[in-house]
Amino acid sequence: MTMPKLPVEGGCRCGRVRFRLSGPPWLEAACHCRGCQRMTASAFSTTPVMPEGGFAVVAGKPVIGGMHGDVADHHHCDWCKSWVFTRPRTAMGFVNVRATLLDDPSWFAPWLETQTAEKLPWATTGAERSYERFPAMEEYQGLMAAYRAARATG
Ligand SMILES: [Zn+2]
Ligand SMILES: [Zn+2]
Repeated sequence: MTMPKLPVEGGCRCGRVRFRLSGPPWLEAACHCRGCQRMTASAFSTTPVMPEGGFAVVAGKPVIGGMHGDVADHHHCDWCKSWVFTRPRTAMGFVNVRATLLDDPSWFAPWLETQTAEKLPWATTGAERSYERFPAMEEYQGLMAAYRAARATG
C-alpha cells in the first residue's frame, strides 16, 4: 500500500483518546495469537510498529487493560475500552499501534504476520513474511530492512 503523507492521526471508538503517527512505521504486522484474538474480538490484531519518537498520544489519557505489564502494557481508552496501543515493559524503542484505529486505515497492510500456529483456519492476511511464533530478536533488523525496501518508506 502507499504510505500517506505524515503525520496521520487516529483515535479510539469514542474519540476521547487520539494519537498521531509522525514517522514511517518500522513494520506493518498482524498477530494471530489467541491473546490478540480475544483482545480484538476478531481473528488477528493489526499493527504499525512505530518508533517511540514517531508516536504520540495527542488527546485523552489511556489506561492499562488487557496485559498488565508482564512483558508489555496494553493501553486502552477508559471510556470506550478500545485497545489503542501496546508498549513493551522494557523500553525497546517502539510502540505497537492498532492500525484499525487510524482515521484512514486503508493504507495499512500486514507485511509480517506472527503466531500463525494459533491462527484461525480461515484467516488470511496477505503478509509477505509468516512466522509460526515471533521472529527471533536478531531477525528484526533484517525484517525491518526488507520491509523498508518493499514499502519504500525511506
Ligand atoms: Zn474511547
Ligand atoms: Zn498477538
